[in-house]
Order: sequence, then C-alpha cells, then structure tokens
Amino acid sequence: MTELARIPLAGVIGDPIAHSRSPALHGYWLQRYGLKGHYVPLHIAQQDLQQALEVLPKLGFVGANVTIPHKEAVLKLADVVTDRAALIGAANTLIIRADGRLHADNTDGAGFIANLRQNAPQWTPSAGPAAIFGAGGAARAVIAALIEVGVPEIRIVNRTRHRAEALRADFGAKLVVVDWVQAPSMLEGAATVVNTTSLGMAGKSDFRVPLDALEKSALVTDLVYTPLQTQFLIDAAAKGCTTVDGLGMLLHQAAPGFERWFGHRPEVDAATRQAVLSA
Ligand code: NAP
Repeated sequence: MTELARIPLAGVIGDPIAHSRSPALHGYWLQRYGLKGHYVPLHIAQQDLQQALEVLPKLGFVGANVTIPHKEAVLKLADVVTDRAALIGAANTLIIRADGRLHADNTDGAGFIANLRQNAPQWTPSAGPAAIFGAGGAARAVIAALIEVGVPEIRIVNRTRHRAEALRADFGAKLVVVDWVQAPSMLEGAATVVNTTSLGMAGKSDFRVPLDALEKSALVTDLVYTPLQTQFLIDAAAKGCTTVDGLGMLLHQAAPGFERWFGHRPEVDAATRQAVLSA
C-alpha cells in the first residue's frame, strides 16, 4: 500500500479568534491556486499555549499565524526567533520545520511597507519625518520597518507616555517622543502619518486628534481596517492627502507564511481584497 502524503495544516492562534479574517484569506488562496491544505482558527487560552505548540507538529501542522494575546509569549516558546521578531519583541508567523522545531518570525512590518508601496507607489519614505500614533505591538513592527526603509525621523505619541519612551530606548535616537496633548503639532512637516492605535475601530473610541497641521503632501495610513475607511482617513483625504487603508497590511503580512506552508507565493490583488471583504 502506498503511503498517502499528509495534507498540510495551518491556522491562526488567538483568544478570541472568531473575528479573524485570516481563515477566509488563506482559504481563498488555497482554493484559487488549487492547493491541498487547510487553514483553521485555533482558539487557545494563554495557559494552554505551550501545550498547543508542542502538539501542533504531531497533528500535521506546518505553521501558524499568531495574534492577540500570544504574539509576545510565542517568542519564549520558539526554538528559533528571527532577528526582526526579536527586535520587534513579537512574532506573528510560525513555521514548523520537518524536525518539529518551531521558527518564529514577524511579517507585520514587511506587510505594512508592501501595502504602502502597492497603494501609494509615489510614497518616498526619506521625504520627511514620520508621525506615529500609538506605541503598542503593531507600532513596534511599523517603527522597525520605517527605520529599515530610511525614514529620517520618527515622532511618536502615545496616551501612556512611558510605552513610547520604551520604544525610544529600544529603537534609538531617530525616535522623538511627543506628549499626547501635543499630538496635533507633531503633524507639522510630517511626510508619513500612521495610526497604530485601536482608536477609530468599530466598537472602540473615536480618533479625535485635530489634523489642522497635516500637510497635503503627507501619506496617511491607518492600521485599523474595520471600518475600511476610518474617520481619520476620511478627514486626511478631505485635506488632500493620499490615504491607504489597513486591510492591505493584513493581506501582505499573510503572504510569506502562506508561501512557506503551502509552497506558492500568493498574489495580493483586488480579487483577494474582495474575497476577504465579502467573507
Ligand atoms: P496594542 O498593543 O493593544 O496597542 C493598542 C494601542 O492603542 C496603544 O498604543 C494604546 O495606548 C492605544 N489606545 C487604545 N485605546 C486608546 C484610547 N482610548 N486612547 C488613546 N490610545 C488608545 O494593540 P496592537 O497590536 O498594537 O494593535 C493596534 C491596532 O492595530 C488594532 O486596532 C489592531 O487591530 C490593528 N492592527 C492591524 C494590523 C493590520 O494588518 N492592518 C496589524 C496589527 C494590528 P496605551 O499604550 O496608552 O494603552
């Protein structure tokens, strides 16, 4: 009897997880490229994470995405951590090697940049300072990526100032910490403006920072993608700025994992966007 090849499995680990769009995205790509495999939501509580990661290779998993609240904890449990995941302090993509060893990477920053390159091809990172709202996990990935592509200065404002100061300690002198009450003035002369807070997300508080000082030439992007057009993006567009929504980042951060697990580099295009939006 010939042995049947194992069907590769991947999934997204989080708590909660039912809201995740990743299963729809990977499911769409698997179908589009006619690949064997399955991608499933894995609802795993904090206290069960280690045990779950130990059992995944035995179940036939070739990898997984990781989301809230496990992105930091997986770093301690992985056998290999990439330099960028270590710098960011979080992983969002796990690759399970043939020997069962767990490799942890972070593709959020690459996804962030790919989204801007695709949807605002004229964007020049070196054109001027970046202004970042927020200092959470997503901000760390965005800052690491912006430094890598040559942004000359990064102004950062966060409700809880010490979190922004911790980022400055980790990422160095390119970061300038601004007080939350002075957030509006940080927009003066900024060429790239990013909301990495959850403000403006459906069910959360509104983003209320006045945008009077925003330059028309600035590229403005929001990591929040529910709703797709946040009030922040609508207001920035009304000032004449180029805006890019956050859905593209979600799609682009997923592509490297899909390629490693299922052996095909997926395209991030209008059809992919539509598949996720209509899921
Ligand atoms: P996180 O680590 O929990 O950070 C949340 C950030 O939002 C912190 O800076 C926090 O400030 C700020 N914040 C929350 N409520 C606030 C309020 N009422 N007033 C002012 N600031 C507030 O979360 P995260 O992982 O960085 O994610 C942040 C957002 O990015 C989420 O909406 C997430 O869905 C989105 N995201 C999108 C993508 C994508 O692919 N598009 C990827 C990753 C994340 P404090 O430090 O003061 O609490």
